[in-house]
Amino acid sequence: MTPEGRRFLLNAAAELDLDLSPQAELFGRLLDLLVAGADQVNLTSLRNERDIILKHFVDSLTCLRGGWLDGEWSVLDLGTGAGFPALPLAIVRPELRVTAMDATRKKVEFVGRTARDLGLANVEPLTGRAETLGRQPGRREGYDRVVTRAVAALPILAELALPFLPVGGLLVAQKGALGPEELEAGTRAAAEVGGEVRAVEPFALPVLGDARTLVVVEKVAPTPERYPRREGVPNKQPLFWKAT
Ligand code: SAH
Repeated sequence: MTPEGRRFLLNAAAELDLDLSPQAELFGRLLDLLVAGADQVNLTSLRNERDIILKHFVDSLTCLRGGWLDGEWSVLDLGTGAGFPALPLAIVRPELRVTAMDATRKKVEFVGRTARDLGLANVEPLTGRAETLGRQPGRREGYDRVVTRAVAALPILAELALPFLPVGGLLVAQKGALGPEELEAGTRAAAEVGGEVRAVEPFALPVLGDARTLVVVEKVAPTPERYPRREGVPNKQPLFWKAT
């Protein structure tokens, strides 16, 4: 990362009330690994330093807004891709135990290697699909928090994520602009799988001002045994929602 990149990161993070100076060096190394790895695996379309800093690092850290992840929680990042938001969260919050899960083995291997290279002992890579892992003993109801970024519409996320939480656990979904229809369907889907929408917080991404929404769903009742449905079905026939 260039000195300009470092300044840019610190200024953008300051808009989220985060002082990243202690972690700036780690983010610099993460940026280098991401750029170097991007050509081997289809990790990210972003190449430019500022784009990666803003659209991956800072954007991931907006999941910390509202304090929903404050605590010594076990966190599942569902659909982590190249490690977002898992890696930035693990860097900034060493007290979190973060499981970085994705269906694509190559991406998960990159995340595991990167966590090792950066010395992040609080990241566990996990390959698999939410529909299957969400039925495994130890994984079902096995996490205090589920975070997601850019994975699916809210009704799909509810079905995929809620099985991983015990009653009292939270899904923290970072989304773009959220239309009333998606929220309505998401609220109904959440109720179907034992969840209740706790918060819907629209905000703007630092610097660019792009619309984002943090949606928080609390697990209030056990998820019925029939959820999640088998692989692919939550996406093909989303609960209360038109398929995309
Ligand atoms: N969260 C990352 C990646 C978003 S792309 C980021 O914000 O950059 C969506 C990712 O979700 C893909 O890598 C895809 O493999 C994964 N994914 C989608 N559905 C999934 C499922 N049912 N189980 C596990 N991973 C899933």
